[in-house]
Amino acid sequence: MGSESNIKLLDENGIRLDGRTPEQLRPIKIETNLLERADGSAYIEWGGNKIMVAVYGPREAYPKHTQDIEKAVVKARYNMAAFSVDERKRPGPDRRSVEISKVISEALSSAIMVEQFPRAQIDVFIEVMQADAGTRIAGLTAASVAVASAGIPMRDMVVGCTAGKVEGKVVLDLSKEEDNFGQADLPIAVLSKSKRIVLIQMDGDLSLEEFEQASGMIMKATDNIAEIQRNALINRYSVESIGDGE
Ligand code: UDP
Repeated sequence: MGSESNIKLLDENGIRLDGRTPEQLRPIKIETNLLERADGSAYIEWGGNKIMVAVYGPREAYPKHTQDIEKAVVKARYNMAAFSVDERKRPGPDRRSVEISKVISEALSSAIMVEQFPRAQIDVFIEVMQADAGTRIAGLTAASVAVASAGIPMRDMVVGCTAGKVEGKVVLDLSKEEDNFGQADLPIAVLSKSKRIVLIQMDGDLSLEEFEQASGMIMKATDNIAEIQRNALINRYSVESIGDGE
């Protein structure tokens, strides 16, 4: 973020390097239940991001001192594969992945009916196989579908998007170049029905006006992304019900 570069991110008509308008999302595709051994799973392709999520639980929290007698503990682990980025990523957790795991765990805890499962843990493994900016939001959006596909009761789905600023203009869903060379990056995730914010972070600078424009764009986009989440779950279960009848 913010590195100076001669790269031109917007043309004279405000069109972006990948041909998108300022408010246009990258293509998003979500599939669910691809992993047989997980209780729930989802795979997302969002632009060039390719992310698999596996969910296990609720199961008894271990070690025992991590148990909460009132509710389930959601343990999300965000991991970037060594081959997911241009420069090899050193395997294992680092500050960034620990932070992302924490904010994703908290966002999912707001949506899951954790109070129904005291002393339990719900594990959410987010494996980024190819990274192309916006992985925390893409991972969280897929994780919500994976949790739902595991049959874990939720009060709402979590859905998110990023917006940011490039060359002084607010744009939706930053690409890798826009993330690297832009002036601001604002990931937001909400509960899809209530629109309550469950994740918000900001890198770079936005004026109040720009912030309102960026968050407005994100809120609008989350309706479309929520539809993709719903369709992923509906497709999965309608295929199963056809299969049952055969
Ligand atoms: N990135 C990278 N190496 C790293 C971390 C990030 O190449 O060790 C890239 C990756 O494409 C990622 C992007 O930088 O998607 C933006 O990273 P950021 O920390 O802003 O998180 P994200 O936007 O993926 O949630």
